[in-house]
Amino acid sequence: MSDLPELASDCAACAALCCMALAFDAGDSFGFDKPAGLPCPNLDAELGCSIYGRLEAEGFAGCASYECKGAGQRVTQDLFAGRDWRSEPDLAQPMIAAFAAMRLVHDGIELLETARWLDLPPALEAERQALLRSYLPPAWTEDSLAAFATSGAPVRLKAFLPRLRDWV
Ligand code: SF4
Repeated sequence: MSDLPELASDCAACAALCCMALAFDAGDSFGFDKPAGLPCPNLDAELGCSIYGRLEAEGFAGCASYECKGAGQRVTQDLFAGRDWRSEPDLAQPMIAAFAAMRLVHDGIELLETARWLDLPPALEAERQALLRSYLPPAWTEDSLAAFATSGAPVRLKAFLPRLRDWV
């Protein structure tokens, strides 16, 4: 398929969604607790990470290894035209919701794209392609993303993947 989105994070094009939307617990991967929906105290005024160059040394290996698979910049740019929740706090909740749904979309695309390299029988390959198409509409909106998250596609994907075990 030619219309695949970028499946790697581009933090420069993102409004630091993972640093605000996600929760983390103090431990080996994070230096302190942070609830979902609140900005990390290490975020600087430009929505950059003030300890970016020393995340592991500061106890934030989880941040260094986190990969949103392109969901963050896609939500920021495609759905919110580069706006951000800090300048416009009313955007925080819709951006959190869109980011959660887009992560689901990009996780699914990555799994289905990985499966293309398996030597699947035609019927399963056709199913893979049909399922992938449901993850690749011409464009996403806040409403269509919200609907997708509760649609049958994620459920169908979850049922589809174990059926590939004989070709892995
Ligand atoms: S430590 Fe840095 S990368 Fe990790 S959540 Fe905070 S601002 Fe983001």
